Amino acid sequence: MIKVIETIDVMRAYIKEARFAGKKIGLVPTMGALHEGHLTLMREAKAVCDVVVASIFVNPTQFGPNEDFAAYPRKFENDCRLAQGVGVDAIFHPQPSEMYPPGYSTYVNVSGITDKLCGQSRPGHFQGVATVVTKLFNIVQPDTAFFGQKDAQQCLVIQRMTADLNMDIQIVMVPTVRDANGLALSSRNAYLSPEEIQAALVLAQSMRLADHAVKAGERNIAAIRDMVRNKIQSEPKAEIDYVEIYQYPDLQATDVLANKALLALAVRFGKTRLIDNIILSV
Ligand code: AMP
Repeated sequence: MIKVIETIDVMRAYIKEARFAGKKIGLVPTMGALHEGHLTLMREAKAVCDVVVASIFVNPTQFGPNEDFAAYPRKFENDCRLAQGVGVDAIFHPQPSEMYPPGYSTYVNVSGITDKLCGQSRPGHFQGVATVVTKLFNIVQPDTAFFGQKDAQQCLVIQRMTADLNMDIQIVMVPTVRDANGLALSSRNAYLSPEEIQAALVLAQSMRLADHAVKAGERNIAAIRDMVRNKIQSEPKAEIDYVEIYQYPDLQATDVLANKALLALAVRFGKTRLIDNIILSV
């Protein structure tokens, strides 16, 4: 049976025992409403670690005041069943008051790569992410932690943070899992109407156009970005938040594609904001 742990003390005791037994510990942080993307991270963790802990915590500090914290889908019972099915050993499921008790005052800020893309359109988001991930790392003390390329900037922020703060944790980035039509799996897809799901396919289509253009020799960043923007704007239900291309992995601005670049986009369909990305490579 999968173990469900709600307090930091019990989590620490569980990890202490696993460490004493010489087990290699893997952590998969999530906000729940699990789908095949999350399960792929968990399978990957199980393949290389002895004990896999998945956290399910809708972290209030990474949501802005007008964002969907209250509405975010919560499906805990089903999540436990799915996680058990892929071999997760323990679920860490704290209440917000366990993670942020009265008087809580400490936050982690990663500068530079957080001043663009989602860092720009969601002020405070990456401070919330870096803070909660630091806390999860301190509580679970994993050898390896698994993150999805779906949130590529988040993954880069965590890699920067672990390097800068000398956290002895290996960060693994797992490729984005998509449905048969190319739509990246996301817990937020549950907000979409059938018409919006259909419209959202334009995201994967636009990124495919960019990928083909690069394979055909296009190196002009502005030209690739305009091609992607135009394709997305051809879908009446799509409202662009950002479509940007930065050098990968340092996210520096560039005019000409050399080596690798991250094509990242955030687009609204009705009330739902979706993000997606691909790594373009020469
Ligand atoms: P979330 O619950 O949305 O915070 O996601 C938890 C982790 O799962 C993050 O590392 C995400 O990048 C990853 N993830 C979410 N969706 C996908 C997907 N479609 N493919 C791969 N990883 C994903």
